[in-house]
Amino acid sequence: MSTDTTLEIQSTDIQAKLLARIDEKRDDLAALTSDLLKIPTLNPPGECYLEICEYLEKRLLRHGFDVETVRAYETPGDSEKYPRWNVIARREGRYKGECIHFNSHTDVVEVGRGWTKDPFGGEISEGRVWGRGACDMKGGLAASIIAAEAFIEVCPDFAGAIEISGTADEETGGYGGVAYLAEKGYFTPERVQHVIIPEPLNKDRICLGHRGVWWAEIETFGHIAHGSMPFLGDCAVRHMGAVIAEMEETLFPALYARETAMPVVPEGARHSTMNINSLHGGLAEPEPDFTGFPAAVVPDSARMVIDRRYLIEEKADEVKAEIVGLLERVKSRRDGFEYNMKELWQVSPTMTERDAPVVRTVASAIHAVMDREPAYVVSPGTYDQKHIDRIGRMKNCIAYGPGILDLAHQPDEYIDIDDMVDSAKVMALACQKLLMKDA
Ligand SMILES: [Zn+2]
Repeated sequence: MSTDTTLEIQSTDIQAKLLARIDEKRDDLAALTSDLLKIPTLNPPGECYLEICEYLEKRLLRHGFDVETVRAYETPGDSEKYPRWNVIARREGRYKGECIHFNSHTDVVEVGRGWTKDPFGGEISEGRVWGRGACDMKGGLAASIIAAEAFIEVCPDFAGAIEISGTADEETGGYGGVAYLAEKGYFTPERVQHVIIPEPLNKDRICLGHRGVWWAEIETFGHIAHGSMPFLGDCAVRHMGAVIAEMEETLFPALYARETAMPVVPEGARHSTMNINSLHGGLAEPEPDFTGFPAAVVPDSARMVIDRRYLIEEKADEVKAEIVGLLERVKSRRDGFEYNMKELWQVSPTMTERDAPVVRTVASAIHAVMDREPAYVVSPGTYDQKHIDRIGRMKNCIAYGPGILDLAHQPDEYIDIDDMVDSAKVMALACQKLLMKDA
């Protein structure tokens, strides 16, 4: 028997042990998810971050991790009442090697209406765990913890390191979470070589990245006058109407005509898109208990916020120039048209290479666990990969985790326990492939 074959048998043997160990941890996985869901980490405003960090710290210390809790001082939303706490745990292996990092956000969005389950009850029934954040993304966090614990138990002599982080504020931009940690050096190619973000993209899909974002506020101006003599004023809302008409006529068809080579899902998002987030003009909305009439005034200001999502084939300055060009066209045709445009937020598109090490490793693990090829996708919206890429300079990063993206932010959110078990298996095999010298 050649040495190669011996190693192969050992590796298959370890693989079988890992998969069996995760099956044994099924109840632990469901209970851990349930516990995490009982901590109502609502954001905004950013509740209970310290509580969830302490819960994770206690658990990971028991499994031999070194644990740090880090507050993102003076980031947006950070205050004594709502401090932005993050937890980073690291388990060193026996030998030198590479580090694989599992990053999950701990925050959840508001509950909203229409629930039949207690959103913070952590109910386990029908093979699911229910609650706000079950799929986005406490189920993914729990799966990565179980995967790491199983791997450490079965392969105590691994090389390199495993890191698990629970970070704040992803739902509001990630500035008090991953962005802060990346700035402090927690995500650098020197410290971390592989990053998996267990967002709910389905257990057999690998998410390579996301489209870009460009937000701006457009204001049109007018001249205030009595509403009975509008010809003495100049209506800012009519000017804004001309902007929208121009968007309908030229911009939206042009955006739709652009199509990306990025495998974005859903397919509608393979085109460039733009949403008009809000539109305000004229008198401020009255308080709900105000019973009087509005005043007769010609509006002298109208404001619109736009949310433009762009493709990897487009550049941020082209996106901006296109809107400025549109406003200038309207200006050239309309008397008295004055505008102001303020950029609010920009995120560059990012896409990890299909043959990057973490992509190939997770693809082969999906094949081993589910006997199928993964689908490669790109997210229509952004997530924390943007900070890992731009601030951390880490290109070897994907999102991979259990759960159905469509359920995120919905009432009666849940995660299937079977899906968590399968994706924990994939994560554990990824650890084996990356951290076991002979695997
Ligand atoms: Zn999420």
